[in-house]
Amino acid sequence: MNNGKLESKSLETNSVLLETVGEEGLDVVQCLLDKEETDEKISEQTGLRLNTVRKILYRLYDYRLASYVRTKDKEIGWYTYTWKLNLTRMSEIMMVRKKHLIGELNEMLDFERNHVFFRCSSDAIKYSFDTATETGFRCPSCDSALEYVDNQQNVTELEKRIKKLEKEIN
Ligand SMILES: [Zn+2]
Repeated sequence: MNNGKLESKSLETNSVLLETVGEEGLDVVQCLLDKEETDEKISEQTGLRLNTVRKILYRLYDYRLASYVRTKDKEIGWYTYTWKLNLTRMSEIMMVRKKHLIGELNEMLDFERNHVFFRCSSDAIKYSFDTATETGFRCPSCDSALEYVDNQQNVTELEKRIKKLEKEIN
């Protein structure tokens, strides 16, 4: 079982949840943090319409972040759905996201490493080495001199971010 309030969960978890189910979804998640609950009870507790609550719950279900147990009320013959959160699945989702991000950052890193850039001294627009040589190192839009851009800081920054993420997924 998960423990603690949503506030104490990491910001990362929160932002993934927010993207997945929205603001109202966070209220629903909050209801399910320490206990199992029926959709009707969640609706009462959050003040959200039952339909909205159900939509959110099924969205969580799609991501396998929640599951339910269906029971039949013997007296009235209706089905009751009791919902349960599965936030361990959250770490899998974040793992996949981080791996994806590492891939993107590595591409950016390759690009920075394999390219030389020049910047216009007056309007700060960046140009590739090819463009700079074609125009004789003058800005194509204002003819000011183009200056070599030292991108070592970008490279270092990207390397740092990648290293940090790799540490987090290991
Ligand atoms: Zn310029």
